[in-house]
Parts: sequence; structure tokens; C-alpha cells
Amino acid sequence: MLSLSNGFSEDDIRDFSDKICRFLGVSETTEIVCEPKVDGVSLSLVYEDGKLVRGVTRGDGVTGENITENVRTLRDIPMELEVKKGEILPQKVEIRGEVYITRINFEAMNAKQAEVGDKIFANARNAAAGSLRQLDSTITAQRPLEFFAYALASVSDDLSFETHTDELHALQRWGFVTVPFKAFGSVDGLLENYNGMVEKRFELPYAIDGLVYKVNDKNLQKRLGEVARSPRWAIAHKFPAEQVTTVLEGIDVQVGRTGVVTPVARLQPVEVGGVTVSNATLHNEDYIAERDIRVGDTVFIERAGDVIPKVVKPVLEKRPEKADIFSFPRECPVCNSNLVRLEGEAAWRCVNHLSCRAQVEAQIIYFVGKHGMDIDGLGQKQVQKFLEDGLIKTVVDVFNLKDHAEQLKGQEGFGEKSVTNLLESIERAKQVELPRFLAALGIPLVGYEVARLLANRYGTLEILQSAILDKPDDVESIDGIGSRIVESLQVFWQEPHTQELLKGLLTVGVTVMPYEAPQVADNPFLGKIVVLTGTMENMTRDEAKVRLQSLGAKVSGSVSSKTDYVVAGAAAGSKLKKAQELGVAVLDEAAFLEKLS
Ligand code: AMP
Ligand code: ZN
Repeated sequence: MLSLSNGFSEDDIRDFSDKICRFLGVSETTEIVCEPKVDGVSLSLVYEDGKLVRGVTRGDGVTGENITENVRTLRDIPMELEVKKGEILPQKVEIRGEVYITRINFEAMNAKQAEVGDKIFANARNAAAGSLRQLDSTITAQRPLEFFAYALASVSDDLSFETHTDELHALQRWGFVTVPFKAFGSVDGLLENYNGMVEKRFELPYAIDGLVYKVNDKNLQKRLGEVARSPRWAIAHKFPAEQVTTVLEGIDVQVGRTGVVTPVARLQPVEVGGVTVSNATLHNEDYIAERDIRVGDTVFIERAGDVIPKVVKPVLEKRPEKADIFSFPRECPVCNSNLVRLEGEAAWRCVNHLSCRAQVEAQIIYFVGKHGMDIDGLGQKQVQKFLEDGLIKTVVDVFNLKDHAEQLKGQEGFGEKSVTNLLESIERAKQVELPRFLAALGIPLVGYEVARLLANRYGTLEILQSAILDKPDDVESIDGIGSRIVESLQVFWQEPHTQELLKGLLTVGVTVMPYEAPQVADNPFLGKIVVLTGTMENMTRDEAKVRLQSLGAKVSGSVSSKTDYVVAGAAAGSKLKKAQELGVAVLDEAAFLEKLS
């Protein structure tokens, strides 16, 4: 499941539309459908031969949780798709939508929870998420969960739709309640509608945090494709964040995994956007200084969707008499090293990466966590305890915990069973896929997505390492990887400590499995090096590039003897000449389209 890119201002939305036009090489805005962005939990439903066979949560976007039994208890979700007379049902279809709880039901549900002394939910979305993930589906059945279908993710070949709205109409015929939707022919129309909704949204029975815009034409959606895990053909237009005031009682500074020191506001607890907030970020030294934010001030705070709440500005009229300007520390509050602020950066850092306790702890927690090696039963609490007791000092030691099994069993909160389970999941984690391993290392700018792109290209850790050290240009030529990422990889790999770390992990038995990229079907461009030049009539260069890359071709900027094809549109210049000199195959637009199809 993909994410949605976000827009906040009118310019963001005009930009979204302009980019689509440029990509497709058209001047008119295409039809765009507007839907509410319902603040719930997304769900994927699979129907085979009309029967519900699977319900899965979004999870990390790649792997979700199978919650089919719970999903079957929702009244809005048909067990079987309805067939109207003369209609064909697809053999297989995947439906996406949002599980939500209305405001009224949420209030009532929390009141009931309070009455019996059960957990109070912070907001309707958390309540929906918690209810869906119950181990016992009879509990899910008692919760007031409702469902809006908002898309068909895929349909088997026996059925196809030309537009998104056609799909929504089909969903309605099959027995779903869809999100309300409306098509617009111009950006002005969308913006006018948005401005009306900013206030009107509070009259809806359910919470929404913005509107979603989607290109209606399915064929154009396909051509536009996706970029960085979001479709190019959709955007979420967010509503302005809610602001409230409260008192800033203190400012703490926290040291993160990469040594960045972040000031955190301690606030008099206050409710904003349906949750109680007592901490908020102050970003960095300049942010505080520019706004002249002082301890004791009454401040505006803001919270938008899932984003961490932030302090916006002080209310100067309410400033107490004795409120001192905040002086940002120059020493690490944890290890007392001098902090460093690099030119052009806003952040102060503790560069004592190897022995600053705050950083080591955060690195280990990240390494073993969900986005890293994903070791079950090893969370923040356990890591902190093991560090305190000297059972581990580095990530390598995690894999030696089995030597301390007896000592572990004696510890508070650790029974025979949980120690066995923990040691087993540590053993299992030793066989790790390359992308997961790379992501676990916590290299700045290298999250799971980037790690996957790298693994895709190089397959093994050894080959990747030599590419980073010897062929940085090759690494940078990967779509989605820029010079800053390459620089960050180089810095990491040149660090002497890195070799020590990798060797240490290998010694304790961590095996990084070679990565097999998902197979691209055989086609004339698979593995070929292609250069684009000149102007084509039916496709912009951006679109041609994306199409070629999805077929497993490498699109290069210059012609050499290694080039397999030069695609020459009208008015092609020096690249075409070079291709002819070198005897590289040249495709004109017609030949290129023919080969593509
Ligand atoms: P985000 O998590 O901010 O990237 O936004 C993507 C999420 O928006 C999806 O996973 C859905 O859960 C949610 N969403 C809510 N309403 C809609 C809608 N009408 N169309 C698409 N996504 C929606
Ligand atoms: Zn430090």
C-alpha cells in the first residue's frame, strides 16, 4: 500500500496539477476526483469469486497483519459481493478503504470503557486501530466500526474500468458504502470546494484531516505511475492544523540516534486535535531564538494529523516578568562532550557517536527495532535494562546474549519462557535480507526504501560495498538515489568503526542473505542501456524514462559504446550524431513505441 503526498497551500495543489500536465505533455488539466481524507485505519480486502478471502492492515506498506476474522464482523463489509443482473464479477479483486468510528460512537465507546475501568482511547483513529487488531474477534464485533471503500487496488483481467468513478460505482453496486466523491474539471473548482470544506468538515459525522484528489482516468493513472512510494496521480490536501495555547513549563534537550540535540518543550497538558499533549518539539536553537520563545511563556502549539506537535510562537502579552532568554547548551547533556554545529546546519550535534550513552542506546534500539532487524521481544525497555546491567555494550553483543541465558532468567520481568522466546527470535534474526540489514545500520538518509533500491542493483553486501567505495557514480545513477545519499554511504563506509562493526556482526553469525530483485518480465529493454534525445510527440521524456526504468532498463544521459539504444525524437542533435558514429542502434519514436508495446 502506498502513501499519499501532502499539499497544504493553493500553490501546492496548482503545482500538483502542473506537474501532471508536464509529465503527460498536455496543457489542459485532466478531470480530478475529490474525496474526504477519512481519519481512520486503511484496510485491504481481497475477494475471490465474489467471496471475501482476506483482510489485511497497512502495516509498513509492504507487510501488513492478517485480520480476516475480525474484518468479517464489520457490518459494512460484505461477505459476498452482490451481483446485479447481467453483471460480471471479477474472479479476483482487491479493495481498499478506511475503517473509522463516528464522533458520536467514539464518545459513547470511551464513556463505556471508562465505566468498566478499561482503557480510554486518545482519538477515534486509535480506537479503530485497537479494535481491529484484537486477538478475540468477538471484541471487535462489539466495537462501532464502519467502513468506507475508496479504491480498487487491482482487478483480474476479466474486468476493467476506465475511470476511478466507474470503480466507485461498481463498489456501490457490489454492496459497499464508498466515500462521498465529486469530480472537478479545473483546479479553481477544487480550491473553491476546499475553502468551503475547511469549516463544513465539522458537520460531518466522522473526522477528516483533509481532502484527497485523484486523477480520474485510469489509463492516465497508469502512465503517471508512482514516485517515492506515493502515486504521482493523487495528493492529500490537508486542512490547517489546529492551534491552542498552554504554558511552557520547561525546555529539555534530547540526544538522538545520530547525535542531533533536539530541544523539547514540557507543556502544561492540553488537548489539541483530540489528544492530550504535554511535550512538543522546538526543532533547534534558531527556531527558539527567531521566535523568542522563553520558559514561562504562554505559547501556541499546533498538531496536524500524525505529526509531532510543535510550539508555534509565544503570546507576548502574557509573558511573566522574569522570563529569561533560553540559552542552548554547548555540551552534551548525557556525555558532556562539546557539541558541534556544522556550517549550513541548524542542529547541534554530539559527535561522540561511539560512546555517548544516549546515542549508543538509540542506535541499538533502532537496529533491533521494527524498521531494522525486527527482533521480537527486544524493545526500548529491554535494551535499556541490558545496557544498564552491562549485558550488552554494542549491537554485536545482542547476538551473544545466549551466553547469559541463566543470568537473564534471574531478572525481574523475565521468565523462563520469555527468555527462551527472546533468544529464539535473536537466532532467527541472524539470517537477514540485505535491505533490512542496510536499513538497520541507521545510515543517515538510508531508510528501508533506499536500502531496497541499493539491494536491487547490487544484490550482495560485498558488491554494494565495493560500488560505494569505488564506483559512486554508478550508485548515483540509480533512480531515487541522489548525491547526498551517496555521500552519506561513503562517509559511513569509510569510517574505521564500520568495518569493525560489520566484522563483529559476521563473527557472531549474522548472515546477510543475497537479495533477489523482484523479476521483471522479459522484454526488449530488460538490462539495456538507453539514451533519450530529441522531442517525441506522444510521450514526454520523463514519462519515457519512467517506463523504461520499470522495464528494467538503465536510462543514461550520454552516448557511449556501451549504449544499447538511442531513442531519437524530433530535432535530435549531437547525441544522435554520436550514436551514428559509434554504430549504436537508433530508434525513432514509432519504432520505440512499437518496442514498448
Ligand atoms: P498517508 O498515510 O498520509 O500517506 O495517507 C494515506 C492514507 O490515507 C491511506 O493509507 C488511507 O488510510 C488514508 N485515506 C483516507 N481517505 C482516503 C481516500 N479517500 N483515498 C485514499 N486514501 C485515503
Ligand atoms: Zn553525547
